Amino acid sequence: SAKRWGENSVQVYTSDEPLPPSERLVLKNHLREALANNQLILQYQPQIDLATKRIVGVEALVRWDHPQYGRIEPGRFIGLAEETGLIVPIGEWVLRTACQQNRAWREAGLPAVKTAVNLSARQLKHAELIERVLAVVADTGIEPACLELEITEGILVDSVETNRIGLQTLRDAGIKISIDDFGTGYSSLSYLAELPVDILKMDRSFVMRLGQDGESTRAHALAESIIHMAHRLQLIVIAEAVETAGQLADLAAMGCDFAQGYYFHRPLGHEQIAELLRQQREAAPARMVA
Ligand code: C2E
Ligand code: MG
Ligand code: MG
Ligand code: MG
Repeated sequence: SAKRWGENSVQVYTSDEPLPPSERLVLKNHLREALANNQLILQYQPQIDLATKRIVGVEALVRWDHPQYGRIEPGRFIGLAEETGLIVPIGEWVLRTACQQNRAWREAGLPAVKTAVNLSARQLKHAELIERVLAVVADTGIEPACLELEITEGILVDSVETNRIGLQTLRDAGIKISIDDFGTGYSSLSYLAELPVDILKMDRSFVMRLGQDGESTRAHALAESIIHMAHRLQLIVIAEAVETAGQLADLAAMGCDFAQGYYFHRPLGHEQIAELLRQQREAAPARMVA
């Protein structure tokens, strides 16, 4: 069990609980050094096509390997990064690293996958975001269609008008846009008709109520309705946080397109992703054209 803060020991933060003020202050100061000292790392969680069972994408998720406090989850420091503005350089590092890695997998002859990168509110408001993204795509040589930007529903809806033009610019360049944590924004659905998005990520709060016999008829109806609505709007649906075979079976029966979650894979290092892609390539080698 983890020792308490201040006992000069290694503590690994795994929950999303807010930090006590003293811890917040210490981490906030250390976060300034984190990028420069190479303490940030990316893990990648596979996204599975439910029809083919193949990995079609990965979501890049940032972690902070602190020399004293161990691995710190993003729920503990993304908020601090937002408050300090450090999210802008951190976010750009995440984007660049994720795009370079995608390109490296391709250059190693591995099957093409999409890489999804999370954007925060402050990044989205940053005046140069669109040009920065386009510059990273150009610099790293990632196929634009292999880059997906995840924006949470709340942030998207916050400023539909301001976001629309920028998002359309990215989409015109071939980049995909997804709505993250869909269903948690408590907002009007009308924005769905207006925003240029490609993918809807159904929040875990819907997924976790599936796969339990009898108990969950309404939850089932809700998830199914979200999928049907998304398909009518020509959006692809990804289910988040799939943890059980029962949830997967329900989602597949509802026509959900893709899924990610501990049932398939936890977030993994880039070498482990390469190994999975290698296995995938060997299981179904590309057909030779005569
Ligand atoms: P998110 O974008 O909704 O990412 C999905 C989160 O669900 C990840 O947590 C992932 O590890 C977790 N997860 C995946 N499968 C399961 C499952 O089966 N069960 C459960 N209970 N959880 C699962 P993580 O990595 O701790 O990230 C938390 C949040 O931090 C992310 O939520 C995202 O909003 C934010 N975040 C992570 N990386 C970045 C980043 O590079 N930039 C920004 N701006 N935000 C990030
Ligand atoms: Mg996400
Ligand atoms: Mg999410
Ligand atoms: Mg979520």
